[in-house]
Amino acid sequence: MKKLFIDIGGTHLRSEIEGDGDIIRECIDSNSIALVAFIEQQIALHPQIDFIGISYAGQVDNGVIISAPNINIDKYEIALEIERRCGIPLLIDNDLNCALRAEAAYWKSEQIAALYVGTGIGAAVIDHGMLVRGAKNMAYEIGHIPYKPSPLVCGCGRSNCLELYASGSGMAKWLEYYGSKASPVLAELKGSINDALVAEEFEEAFLHAAGVLVTLGNPEILVLGGGVIEQNPYLATLLNNKLKNYALSPALQGLRIETSVLENAPLMGAKLLENHNG
Ligand SMILES: [Zn+2]
Repeated sequence: MKKLFIDIGGTHLRSEIEGDGDIIRECIDSNSIALVAFIEQQIALHPQIDFIGISYAGQVDNGVIISAPNINIDKYEIALEIERRCGIPLLIDNDLNCALRAEAAYWKSEQIAALYVGTGIGAAVIDHGMLVRGAKNMAYEIGHIPYKPSPLVCGCGRSNCLELYASGSGMAKWLEYYGSKASPVLAELKGSINDALVAEEFEEAFLHAAGVLVTLGNPEILVLGGGVIEQNPYLATLLNNKLKNYALSPALQGLRIETSVLENAPLMGAKLLENHNG
C-alpha cells in the first residue's frame, strides 16, 4: 500500500508517495494544475494509494478548503470529494499547523509556536501539547490581522493586513507599486538607496508579528521557518535583539528563538496527520 503526501503553497506543490520501501518525490508549480486533478492523476499512476495527507497554505476546516489568499482555488469539500470519487481517506490541515506538528516533534516541546515567512506569513501555536485551533481552525491566522493601511490589496481582499508588509508577496507588491524592478530579496533591498524602505517596513512588520505571537501565545520556543527566513538568517538575530520592544516582557522570560532545521516541515507534518487527533 502507498500513501500520498502533499504540501501545496503559493509557489510550489510538493508531493511524496511512500510505500514499498521507496519514496517518489515531485515538485511542480502549484498553479499549473488544480489540486483535485493532481490527486486523481497520482491515484491513476499509483492505484495502491490508500491514504492522502495534505498540508495546505490556506484556511481549511474539517476537510473543507475555506479560502486560500495565495492559491487559486475556491471553497471546496476536498476530503468528501476524494472519498466519494476514489474511496480514499484524505486528511488536510493548514500548512502552519502541519509545520508546527513537525517542529514540536523535532524540538520535543509541548509549548511551542511557529512563525513562517515565505510567499505569505503564517503562525501556529501548540499549548500544553495541543494545537490551538479556534472554532473554525482559524486561530493565529496572523498574516491577516489589521496592521496599517496601504494602497495595496491583500490576497484576502483587504488592504491593511500584516502580510502586505511582512511577506515575500507583500514586498513584491510594494516594489511593483513603487515601479521598482528589484526582486523581493531582503539583502539586495537593504543595500539599495531606492528600495531600502521596503526592507525596513518588512523588518518592522516582522517584529510586530513576532511580538504579537509571543505575547498572545506565550510559547517556550518560537521557531522561525519559511523561504524568507532561510534566505535571511539575520532575522533570528533581529528578533533576539529587538523583540523586547514588541512583546510583553514576562512573555519573553526563558523564550528560545530557534530557526527551523527541517527540510520541509509542512510536508513532514502532513505525514503526521494520520496519527494525530489534536
Ligand atoms: Zn489579508
